[in-house]
Amino acid sequence: MKIDLKKLTASQHASIPFSETIDLREETLYGVKPFQSPVQMSGEVSGESGILRLKGTIKTIYSTACARCLKPLQVLLTAEVDTVLSDDPDAEEEDDLFVLTGDSVDPADVMVPALILQVQMTYLCKEDCKGLCPHCGADRNEVDCDCESKQIDPRFAALRALLDSGEDERN
Ligand SMILES: [Zn+2]
Ligand SMILES: [Zn+2]
Repeated sequence: MKIDLKKLTASQHASIPFSETIDLREETLYGVKPFQSPVQMSGEVSGESGILRLKGTIKTIYSTACARCLKPLQVLLTAEVDTVLSDDPDAEEEDDLFVLTGDSVDPADVMVPALILQVQMTYLCKEDCKGLCPHCGADRNEVDCDCESKQIDPRFAALRALLDSGEDERN
């Protein structure tokens, strides 16, 4: 959805509200498509004394997986945006400054990058997730496999062999 900014620049105090649901299902991030839920954004573009400003909130449910146990996770992702829209083509684009390419703006162009900035590199299902057993692949949050005790440290194995042979001599 494009918002026509001419109406705003013409008046001293005006604002145009927007509310839209956008589809980012095809958006790829870190090799996956994590935006499988609708993305909702709402806010307003306002003009005051020649300064255009876009304020709003964007949110969605982010589909990911626990970095340790790989359990699928749904994370609420949200970003608050408050950005000045500049029509100066030489202006530096920053978090709080968006450079316009015409006399309209698509709020998604401003808000989607802000949403993506909120994505963390890793998520955990819980702070103390025990992860998967590297030997049998069992989820250690749910089962206690005995792989750990079966893995005999080679140094202890050598010691055991020594002790065993010592016992043999005594017998
Ligand atoms: Zn986990
Ligand atoms: Zn195991």
